[in-house]
Amino acid sequence: MILIFFILFLAGSFVASEKFKFDNYTLYKILPKDSSDFVILQELYEIDRRFDFWDDPIPTAEYLIPPHDKIDLENILIQNNVAFIPTIQNIQEAIDRQTVKKYTRNNVRSMQWDAYYELEEIYAWIDDLAKTYPDIVTTEVAGTSYEGREIKGLKISHGPGRRIVFIESGIHAREWITPATVCYITAQLLTSNDPETRAAARDFDWYIFPVTNPDGYVWTHTDFRLWRKNRKPVGTEFGIDLNRNWNSNWLVKGSSTNPSSNNYAGLGPFSEPETRTLSTYITAIGNKIDIYLSMHSSGQLLLVPFGNTTQPLANYYDVVNIGRRAMGALSVRYGTEYTTGNVAEAIYHATGSSADWVKEFLDVPLVYIYELRDRGTFGHLLPPDQILPTSEETMDSIIDLIHQAKRFGYMNSGNGLKFSFLTPLLLFVVKSVV
Ligand SMILES: [Zn+2]
Repeated sequence: MILIFFILFLAGSFVASEKFKFDNYTLYKILPKDSSDFVILQELYEIDRRFDFWDDPIPTAEYLIPPHDKIDLENILIQNNVAFIPTIQNIQEAIDRQTVKKYTRNNVRSMQWDAYYELEEIYAWIDDLAKTYPDIVTTEVAGTSYEGREIKGLKISHGPGRRIVFIESGIHAREWITPATVCYITAQLLTSNDPETRAAARDFDWYIFPVTNPDGYVWTHTDFRLWRKNRKPVGTEFGIDLNRNWNSNWLVKGSSTNPSSNNYAGLGPFSEPETRTLSTYITAIGNKIDIYLSMHSSGQLLLVPFGNTTQPLANYYDVVNIGRRAMGALSVRYGTEYTTGNVAEAIYHATGSSADWVKEFLDVPLVYIYELRDRGTFGHLLPPDQILPTSEETMDSIIDLIHQAKRFGYMNSGNGLKFSFLTPLLLFVVKSVV
């Protein structure tokens, strides 16, 4: 597999009191051809922190540097024979093309799929859904952010006794396509006439949280479009990577102890109010969750736990096979290709994620991380005209995921799935005997 990394070239200076402009920042697609290229990129990260790696394989760093360093980057890559393509010459132009729309209140169908929405618009829409479908939709608050905002979402339920599909999105603030897609999925579950979608909506309780990092998301709209972390001050720096802060192999791999890093894991597991409150909320319903989806972008990947090892732990083979088939369903509509695999084998070792914690501590049968569109062109700055196709194909895959889960024997006699996999312990015993 060819790994593709984005590098954001940071130049200029940032005055915190004004909205940061990314004029003449350039986005590069890097095409490492083998492991030695990968090592060069790793070293580049370790010793030269002027570049912001957009994809997970390599931890990110943000440093503000003068424009001539763009030449430095190209020279380093050329000297090391690493292929690269500048994909966006001027980041600010791509940001300016990302329309942000206002949601017209009191009309649940007025949320459109050709623009991104601010936090208060998404929250207002959720409140309106609860009013419009009072027997089916309830507003849920899964936690609180550092700046005191609610982590607001909703529950769709057609009656008691159902197992749960849990969708967590927007934990990385700049990945705007994830809340947009999750809102579309919510709307489909409530309004679609497609029999399979209606059955999926009825057969499960759906817990959906479009923005689990509300402070960061607001910051991406008001001040700094490419912000990833939460907004807690740490000395002179800001923010903890909330998807490195969960209490599962915390700080073991793919995380940083440096608060200026985009992968800064915090002072300890669950040090952040967002992860602490959200994990408490999830724990309370944990034994009912059959499917947990953690939505990210970009790279077109479907990843399964765990992020610290390539060992096929737990029900790995089932999860990967179900995932691959669901990605086949995803590709039907627009031909979009996803790669499915374990986090550590598909991208890079990374621990302390929500997905690993949900798998390790709650034993949820099917846990997936989606890295949505695209693969190597716009990254986090996906143009609004890709919101609808991204959402449609993702919805297709989730419906097929449920279908495949049933085929693989994860179906209970009642509603929902059955938890039925070899424990990690048993798997280890088998392997050691062999
Ligand atoms: Zn992410």
